[in-house]
Amino acid sequence: SSNRHDRDKEVNVQVLLRCRPLTEDEQRINVPRVISCNDHRREVTVVQNVANKQVDRVFTFDKVFGPKAQQRTIYDQAIVPIVNEVLDGFNCTVFAYGQTGTGKTYTMEGGMMRNKGGDLPAEAGVIPRAVRQIFDTLEAQSADYSMKVTFLELYNEEITDLLAPEDNSRFGEDKQKKPISLMEDGKGCVVVRGLEEEAVYSANEIYTLLERGAAKRRTADTLLNKRSSRSHSVFSITVYIKETTVGDEDLIKCGKLNLVDLAGSENISRSGAREGRAREAGEINKSLLTLGRVINALVEHSAHIPYRDSKLTRILRDSLGGKTKTCIIATISPSAHSLEETLSTLDYAYRAK
Ligand code: ADP
Ligand code: MG
Repeated sequence: SSNRHDRDKEVNVQVLLRCRPLTEDEQRINVPRVISCNDHRREVTVVQNVANKQVDRVFTFDKVFGPKAQQRTIYDQAIVPIVNEVLDGFNCTVFAYGQTGTGKTYTMEGGMMRNKGGDLPAEAGVIPRAVRQIFDTLEAQSADYSMKVTFLELYNEEITDLLAPEDNSRFGEDKQKKPISLMEDGKGCVVVRGLEEEAVYSANEIYTLLERGAAKRRTADTLLNKRSSRSHSVFSITVYIKETTVGDEDLIKCGKLNLVDLAGSENISRSGAREGRAREAGEINKSLLTLGRVINALVEHSAHIPYRDSKLTRILRDSLGGKTKTCIIATISPSAHSLEETLSTLDYAYRAK
C-alpha cells in the first residue's frame, strides 16, 4: 500500500493475529472457547458473559488467522513480501508476541525444521521458510551473494549466544563465558560484540545451526525453570548481494531479517501495570515494555523513539522504524481460561496498529 515516495513518512508496522486450536488436553476436559475468528473479515470476536448477558468485543487487525490456518498460509500471505523487502536491501523484523503457550515458538520455528529429504514439512514455521525463500530466490537469480546468521537469547537484559561453541555456551555462572556486549560504532549503529557470526552457504547449513540454537534454548528451559517464557530469542540473517562492479569496486546491496520470539506477554500483564507494579515488571522484562513503547512511538510519529531504553530495542534499532518493515504476529489461545491474558494481548496488538 505504498509508493517509493511516501516511504519515509509511512509507518510500516503490520499487526497480525493468530489464534491456536484448543490442545488435545483442553478438548478432552471440554474447556469452553471464548474466541471466534473471521479470517476473511480480519476480525476476532471475544465472547464474554457479563452479569448473565453475552457481551461481544470485536477487534480488527491487518490479518487474522484462525485455529485452522496452516503454517504455509501464514507465511505466504504475511511473510513473503517482507522477505522480498530484505532481498531488495531493506532491514525488516518479525515478532511473535503473546502469552506463554499460545504458539509463538510454533509460529516462528514450527515443528521440525526439515524432513529427511530436505524439503520443508507442513509444520515448519516462519524461520525455516524464510531461509528457504532467501536461498531459492538468490539461486533462481544466479545472484552473487553471501550471508551470515546470528542467533541470540536475551534474558534479564543479558545476552547469550545460541550459536556459540559448546565450551562458551553454558548458561548460568560460567567464568569462561565470552562476554557479549553492545557497542556503538561511529555512525550510531549498534554492534553486538562477541557474538558468533556464522557465514552460511546453504539452507541446510542454517537449519543445522538453528537446530543447535533451538536445542540450547530448550536445555536452558529445563535447567532454569521455563526460562524461555521470560527470554527473547533473536535470529538474524544478513544478506549481501553484489549488484554491479564500478571500476574495481563492487556495489553491494545489504538487507537484514530479524525473526524474534518474544518473552511471554504475561510478564507485562495489565494488572501488573495497573496496580503500580509496572516498575517491577519492567525489571523483569524491560525489553518487552520498551519494545511496546518504541512501537507506539513509531505509530504515533513521536519525535523521540526510546530505542536506548532496553537491549532488545538497541539490538534491533537499525531494523525498526524509518524505511524498515515490521510485522507483529500476536498469538492467543481460544480458551476461556486465558481470557484475561487474551484481552491484554488484543489490546496491546490493537494499539500497535
Ligand atoms: P509459546 O512459544 O507461545 O509458549 P508454543 O509455540 O510452545 O507456545 O505452543 C504451545 C503448544 O501449542 C505447543 O505444543 C505447540 O505445538 C502447540 N501449538 C501452538 N500453536 C499451534 C497451532 N497453530 N497449531 C497446532 N498446535 C499449536
Ligand atoms: Mg516459546
